[in-house]
Amino acid sequence: MTAHEPEYRKKLKALVGGKILFDECMDRHTSIGVGGRADALVFPGSVAELGKLVAMMRAEGVPVFFVGNGTNLIVRDEGFRGVIISTKGLRAVRIEARGEGRAAILAEAGASLAEVVALTAKEALAGMEFCAGIPGSVGGGIRMNAGAWGSELKDVIESVSLLNGEGNIQSWRRDALQFQYRNLALPGGSCIAGGVFMLARGSREAVEGRIREILRTRTGKHPLEYRNAGSIFKNPKGMPAGQIIEEAGLKGTRIGGAQVSEKHGNFIVNLGSATARDIIGLIELVQEKVLEAKGIALEPEVKIIGEE
Ligand SMILES: Cc1cc2nc3c(=O)[nH]c(=O)nc-3n(C[C@H](O)[C@H](O)[C@H](O)COP(=O)(O)OP(=O)(O)OC[C@H]3O[C@@H](n4cnc5c(N)ncnc54)[C@H](O)[C@@H]3O)c2cc1C
Repeated sequence: MTAHEPEYRKKLKALVGGKILFDECMDRHTSIGVGGRADALVFPGSVAELGKLVAMMRAEGVPVFFVGNGTNLIVRDEGFRGVIISTKGLRAVRIEARGEGRAAILAEAGASLAEVVALTAKEALAGMEFCAGIPGSVGGGIRMNAGAWGSELKDVIESVSLLNGEGNIQSWRRDALQFQYRNLALPGGSCIAGGVFMLARGSREAVEGRIREILRTRTGKHPLEYRNAGSIFKNPKGMPAGQIIEEAGLKGTRIGGAQVSEKHGNFIVNLGSATARDIIGLIELVQEKVLEAKGIALEPEVKIIGEE
């Protein structure tokens, strides 16, 4: 069965109480603002609904992709044949005391990192300030092991709840998970349903001060005036990708509406009319030129999906 058949659409509607958008353009759901149509973009309203949906997709053999805030994602212009499942309907966040001097934040996958960071400031919990300004969701952040300023989410994670391809949920302690630089290796078809972050009680003033400082530095360094997907390439050992790209003389290089930012070499910005083809073409051009000039093979950090 394919996600185009009316029978299949009926089944989806019967299963999901949350929103379903058929033939939805993904440029509205990615921070860089490109992407063709997904057969369906589905917003389950609870973890139980998400579980049923995942199990049904597996049973029907329909390709599935999970999306959080779409801030590290490029969907090709030809779109995605299958169902994209958004976690935006799963946003519960709460705090649990953990003895003297510590507390845990339990957050569902669709909660934004920004919201969690704001809560840590309000509750004077130290350890997640580095996430200030990272526009992703909790699920996307954990999947990407998001990080900045020498810290990564794995440093503060106590456990992650994973939903497997059969739709069953299980909690995994950090030691049992394979975190790497900008990656958490997951068994195929698994979805992150939520995570628990372990934080230390600190001073509200200090936590807020650090967050303010980070946000100020980011605004100065990143081209936030244009739509973008954050860092395009992973940093190779030894030198940040942005510096390598700058030294190769590629800042400002353009293909169509996509440009290597003049402000930060590791950002590609959408000048307003970029297509996924422009952006992917520019990624490939940068890779080719950097290999030629520096002998370094840059590896994309952003995820690229969809029909070629
Ligand atoms: C202006 C800007 C600044 C940024 N700065 C940083 C930075 O400092 N550090 C950094 O690490 N990143 C940064 N990013 C990139 C991005 O915000 C992070 O990678 C973020 O963690 C992605 O979260 P997301 O919810 O947007 O994920 P998405 O883009 O929606 O998805 C990214 C990947 O995660 C997977 N995924 C999402 N949710 C789930 C889930 N529930 N279960 C399983 N897989 C899932 C998707 O399938 C995809 O493979 C930045 C991006 C922007 C636009």
